[in-house]
Amino acid sequence: MTASKPGRIAVVGSNMVDLVTYITRMPAPGETIEAPDFEIGCGGKGANQAVAAAKLGSAVSMVTKVGDDIFGENTRRNLAQHGIDIRHVETVAGKSSGVAPIFVEASGENSILIVKGANAALLPADVDAAEETLRAADLILMQMEVPRETVIHTVRRAAEWGVRTILNPAPAAADLNVDDLRDLSFLVPNESELALISGLPTGSEDEIAAAARSLIERGIGTVIVTLGGRGARLVTRAGVVPIAPVRVTPVDTTGAGDAFIGAFAHFLAATGEVEGALAQAARYAAHSVTGRGTQKSYATPEAFEAFCR
Ligand code: ATP
Repeated sequence: MTASKPGRIAVVGSNMVDLVTYITRMPAPGETIEAPDFEIGCGGKGANQAVAAAKLGSAVSMVTKVGDDIFGENTRRNLAQHGIDIRHVETVAGKSSGVAPIFVEASGENSILIVKGANAALLPADVDAAEETLRAADLILMQMEVPRETVIHTVRRAAEWGVRTILNPAPAAADLNVDDLRDLSFLVPNESELALISGLPTGSEDEIAAAARSLIERGIGTVIVTLGGRGARLVTRAGVVPIAPVRVTPVDTTGAGDAFIGAFAHFLAATGEVEGALAQAARYAAHSVTGRGTQKSYATPEAFEAFCR
């Protein structure tokens, strides 16, 4: 089931420490209620996607920054334990690491706060400093939890180097100028991110297709829209290909998008085949929502094979 020739993936992105509280409901302003459970986990969209790809067997390098606190060392150790190259993980003096307080309801729905911390210090110069590693990659993965100028710079440099790029535009911002991303190979938003970036409604299948196409007309290669339990849509100039969801009973959907993108990168780098890689990514992400947490809900190749049987 997993690809036989692992690819090389570089992630220019964030790391966060997830502070996950399992709740029966959100407290009202001024109210204090008891929550049944709490866990600390390693997260951040960049690190999550890196770990998903590494767990599946890709050779992954991460370009990121951590704070000089207990979370920074923990993050570094966690990435290394997953076999990720941490030569470009830098510690920023006097800064906290990124943290993400996450609230998970009994339904599996989640609400998340982001404190960027050291992630805000990842700058274009850091991308240039990692050039040797980045240009040797088959794919470069990015998200929006680091400064926007760093993402735009990476997209441009990768185009010069002839390396394909995947951007998960999360968290999305309405003032993101799509013209700055014209060299991007793959944009992977969810429905609400697509609506914000395109400025168009995404309430129906036709609207999703039109919004994605409007971005392609502005220079983005391919748009892949993720739709939670409804699967995903691959949108190119040639049309829309639905990527079927895999039916599961969700326990915790936190990090499903990151599992999807990390797995997509892994299978795309290994096989070069977009539709096949997306079908595998949908399976991998579906498996991840059947377990609690983010990175620890990501399957090893053995667990993934068993799930796919
Ligand atoms: P998150 O921010 O929670 O990581 P997201 O909004 O970025 O998620 P989603 O669209 O929710 O991403 O999920 C990504 C992919 O994961 C979907 O396209 C789908 O393939 C899979 N997925 C998510 N939720 C479910 C579910 N309940 N059942 C099956 N597959 C799911």
